Amino acid sequence: MSQTPAHFRDQVSTLTDDGLKRKWIYPKIIKGKLYKYRSAVSYFFLLLLFSAPFIKVNGEPLVLLNVLERKFVFFGIIFWPQDFYLFALSLLIFIVFIVLFTVIFGRVFCGWACPQTIFLEMVFRKIENWIEGDHNQQKKMDMAPLTFNKLLKKTLKHSLFFCISFLISNVFLAYLIGSDKLIEIITEPIKDHLSGFISIWLFSLIFYLVFSRMRELVCTVVCPYGRLQGVLLDNQSIIVAYDYKRGEPREKITKGQSTQSGDCIDCKLCVQVCPTGIDIRNGTQLECINCTACIDACDMVMAKISKPLRLIGFKSETEIKNKTPFSISKKIYGYGGLLAILMALLGFLIIKRSDVQTTILRASGTLYQIRDKDNSISNLYIAEMVNKTDKIIKFEIVPEDEHVNIQYVQKPTTIAYGGSTKVTFFVILPQNIIKKYKTKIAFKLLSDKKVLDRFETTFIAPLNN
Ligand code: SF4
Ligand code: SF4
Repeated sequence: MSQTPAHFRDQVSTLTDDGLKRKWIYPKIIKGKLYKYRSAVSYFFLLLLFSAPFIKVNGEPLVLLNVLERKFVFFGIIFWPQDFYLFALSLLIFIVFIVLFTVIFGRVFCGWACPQTIFLEMVFRKIENWIEGDHNQQKKMDMAPLTFNKLLKKTLKHSLFFCISFLISNVFLAYLIGSDKLIEIITEPIKDHLSGFISIWLFSLIFYLVFSRMRELVCTVVCPYGRLQGVLLDNQSIIVAYDYKRGEPREKITKGQSTQSGDCIDCKLCVQVCPTGIDIRNGTQLECINCTACIDACDMVMAKISKPLRLIGFKSETEIKNKTPFSISKKIYGYGGLLAILMALLGFLIIKRSDVQTTILRASGTLYQIRDKDNSISNLYIAEMVNKTDKIIKFEIVPEDEHVNIQYVQKPTTIAYGGSTKVTFFVILPQNIIKKYKTKIAFKLLSDKKVLDRFETTFIAPLNN
């Protein structure tokens, strides 16, 4: 895509030229138009991220991802392990959506909606700038010998970083175990919640290291999504790109001097603002998180030299090369169609999802019992009912065939909210109606005369009786 030498492809922007040491990135903050939009979007997401586990819908959190208990809640709807197919399908839809979104808009999710970027750029970076000054002052301070002032500023910065990491850790845990359990951990004696207490401090330490030390390495080295760009992007994808047709050949200018070169004046402001330390003029790179900081920076330069804006902008390679507008490729139609089908399937399955899921099994080690008293055969079953709703369910089991009778060994009548109940019962059939060794029998699970579930099993009987 670029017209510049490709030596940058042999180097990592965050390593020194000899490749032995990390090159710390000090990005300049330019508060352009896109930065203002990005700030607004980030504050919205921050509010959502911090409040989602604490907002209750139907008594359940807005979002809960309790992996340990295998309970997931989205918008107050509980998904249990029995609904795993729905969860897997939702995950698949999310992946297809991300793929489709990336094919069209590149990695814009990373720069605008990823929690890692939002926290780093809109919280931690701002605190750093507030305490240590702008990028130049930060660089100068890091190179200077330790003084009382430096120690004071660094201590204050890292203390604040750890406090915010501690807060994030608590909210993160609320997503995993629920806000009620988190409040119990916070308010009750430590000895009663030792594992929860250790988890909070462990996550705090991890978040602190991520935001104070690892930073952009999470996006460029750890996150697998960035590495997928190479296979997801094509010439039609709209990404943050430098218009090399317009910008090259780049040439430095002095004020008021006219030039026959391209529009890029090689001021390198786009490089100075980049949080991953790359030069977007070298073309698409996996380190680019599409944060759009370089667009703001270059727009500011273009405005100053009275040239049209968006030398760097949201453009596709085709748009830059052929000056043609965006068009929908076959790939987009394909992913779009697949996404629509998967979403329709998910909607259908959610509508069809029953409030109770029943599993019935013949009691282990039993086949059938011959009842000479009334010339009937019985089989012993254990049924387990899982309540997927947020209320207690009263129930009764009713056979669909009028010849089938039930005799309970133990008969609970309710299923606790979010729990399960086991019922052990004999199914009795008169011998004269049994025609096969295995007979299919069906049951309805009723609650207030409403059918909540329907389940089937096989009934075994000797043929010559
Ligand atoms: S900010 Fe714009 S003008 Fe300056 S170097 Fe980058 S692309 Fe060229
Ligand atoms: S190249 Fe531009 S959009 Fe990409 S990460 Fe750097 S500043 Fe952000």
